[in-house]
Amino acid sequence: DPCCDAPLPVLGRDVTVPLVTGGEVTYAALDYAASAPVLQRVWDDVAAYAPYYGSVHRGAGYLSQLSTDLFENSRLTVHEFLDCREGDQVVFTRSTTDSLNLLARALPEGCEVFVFETEHHASLLPWTNARVTYLNAPRTPGEAVRTLESALAGRDPHGPALVCVTGASNVTGELWPVRELAAAAHAHGARIVLDAAQLAPHHRVSVRDLDVDWVAFSGHKLYAPFGSGVLAGRADWLQGAEPYLAGGGASRRVARRTDGGVDVEWHTTAARHEAGSPNVIGAYAIASACRALTEAGFDALVERERHLVAKVLAGLAEVPEVRVLSLFGDDSPSRSAGETPTRVGVISFVVEGWNSSHFAAALSAEYGIGVRDGLFCAHPLVRTLLGSEPQEVGECGAPDAEPGERSGVGGSPADGPARSLNAIRVSFGAGT
Ligand code: PMP
Repeated sequence: DPCCDAPLPVLGRDVTVPLVTGGEVTYAALDYAASAPVLQRVWDDVAAYAPYYGSVHRGAGYLSQLSTDLFENSRLTVHEFLDCREGDQVVFTRSTTDSLNLLARALPEGCEVFVFETEHHASLLPWTNARVTYLNAPRTPGEAVRTLESALAGRDPHGPALVCVTGASNVTGELWPVRELAAAAHAHGARIVLDAAQLAPHHRVSVRDLDVDWVAFSGHKLYAPFGSGVLAGRADWLQGAEPYLAGGGASRRVARRTDGGVDVEWHTTAARHEAGSPNVIGAYAIASACRALTEAGFDALVERERHLVAKVLAGLAEVPEVRVLSLFGDDSPSRSAGETPTRVGVISFVVEGWNSSHFAAALSAEYGIGVRDGLFCAHPLVRTLLGSEPQEVGECGAPDAEPGERSGVGGSPADGPARSLNAIRVSFGAGT
């Protein structure tokens, strides 16, 4: 299928893995939503730079200056990649989780937060300093907008408020009506942060077009290695807040006071929230991935992914026992070319009569296909989709069990119909 040659080569495409049935097979990485493989191009860029790297913002030597330039240029690349407004700041973080926690720490006094119960835990849980309104799972994109509007209508429009919403679900892959939600938020005097962890690897994210106030994403889902992420957007709340981490790099001037204490003047740039020696390799890798995706062109990537999604859904539809999970209930990803698809390359399903964990384990052991099983760090959403109480698993599906023991997985596929208490997810992208 010539359409399906990966437009962006990734590392690990030739890795072979042993099968329980004997022999070995080329590994099929279909867990991009957890962590995507690294682009060859990103790896090459990082390798070319590695001999030259040095401390950022901290050295007079040539290599330190080079690294400082690369780090700051990476910031500009991300600013451009996200089509940020003038004055928006790009803060390098460790991940989406870190970015949203940073923003949660920067909320103004008395800020209210509105979040759908269907969010990933990274979007659902960081708002511990605010009064949070959890919105019920909507069953259509339109209902999502109406639900948000009516929740916001009841609030004092003069007080600060933040809406946090995902761009694409890490469970169903479904796209959320971000532009409409942003308009609803702004109409009621609230701001909005977009969790683009699953959106940015698949679709162009334009802060201006979507009119969101902040965007968060992770490098390791955007074909860069682990350990780096981004929070980009409006400077005012970020600069009005105490630094996320206190320390060198965030402080412009520190002096002893006559009373014996210490006065600190914090930076008012992104550096305010980047104390400590920054992850220059991580930032550079993200920038390299941004360039690679931009050069490949999101129009082409989206069209090709539409084809892959349609193919996977058609294959799954041939198996009567398979139920694909969908919140919005519109399984027509192969809408005509040019039209916005309804989902990205993230598809979760259950197989009647099978325990999802066993099924996923069998895909790996017998076929060398790497997928994810579990609750995908979105317990309330998976509960809604399965219409049942999911099995108890640890955070993000890590079994609450000793190594070697699978938690809550009772019986075997041969034991006959088992209730699917968690799901199986296949996810893919530009490297597939
Ligand atoms: N939001 C969504 C939608 C995600 O899928 C994930 C990761 N699964 C996160 C946030 C958190 O990303 P990270 O683990 O990189 O912090």
